[in-house]
Amino acid sequence: MSWFDTFIEKTGIGKKVPKAEIIWTECKGCKEQIYIAEIEKNLKVCPNCEYHFRIDAKERISYLINPGTFEEHDQDLTSADPLKFKDQKKYKERLKSTEKKGYSHDALITGSGVLGDHAVELSIFEFNFMGGSMGSVVGEKITRSIERAIEKRNPLLIVSCSGGARMQEGIFSLMQMAKTASALRRLSEHKLPYISILTDPTTGGVSASFAMLGDVILAEPGALIGFAGPRVIEQTIQQKLPEGFQRAEFLLEHGLIDNVVHRKDMKQTVNKLLSLLKNTPIAEAVA
Ligand SMILES: [Zn+2]
Repeated sequence: MSWFDTFIEKTGIGKKVPKAEIIWTECKGCKEQIYIAEIEKNLKVCPNCEYHFRIDAKERISYLINPGTFEEHDQDLTSADPLKFKDQKKYKERLKSTEKKGYSHDALITGSGVLGDHAVELSIFEFNFMGGSMGSVVGEKITRSIERAIEKRNPLLIVSCSGGARMQEGIFSLMQMAKTASALRRLSEHKLPYISILTDPTTGGVSASFAMLGDVILAEPGALIGFAGPRVIEQTIQQKLPEGFQRAEFLLEHGLIDNVVHRKDMKQTVNKLLSLLKNTPIAEAVA
């Protein structure tokens, strides 16, 4: 054992704390040290400043869908790596190593479930899987979810959390924007409602396609929503952007979304909206 290891052993200084023993975390909103159990209890929202921590797809499902009603679909779809893409790592290897961390086969979970009083078709992004990026699997799963909604005459719900199109699939990723938008057009022809929930972040090709095509578009407080990031825009237009630019509240103020809803109220709000849309002819309701 080196003198340094002996020093760590004796004093405990610099010793890595096992993840399970970390009980405090710094809130990105108020910068305070918060007891993790307090945040967990509060649907992963800071009890101090209401900062909404990013959550994974499974947690999101448990917050939105009635217990025991969620049935996952298409969980085995995986990318065919059409471009045989390689950067520092082969794309195939990147997919495998991400999968090993315990997140599904791609950046989206789809399924059927009951939200409050309504059977719904649901798509939820998994940001931990390559930044929630949209490749051909994400686009295909969303399209199949829309087709199931049409077949079962269920409303559609998509919860976005994504950095945009997946560069490792190039044009195949970008094609998903047109594909999902066309499928949504068919959903609207069948007069079925689509509620889009935008969470932090919803950017790039996802924001430029289905995320912004909801009959009703809701967002979580403070979520970053936009196409290009603020730094790129500032450098392009050579101007300082206004305070809060591309945040959910700014978008609401400028008419791009319909409401900003706290995580604790999201299920109840969507349930109410679905009841309203069910009892109102959709063309009239969304006019
Ligand atoms: Zn806070």
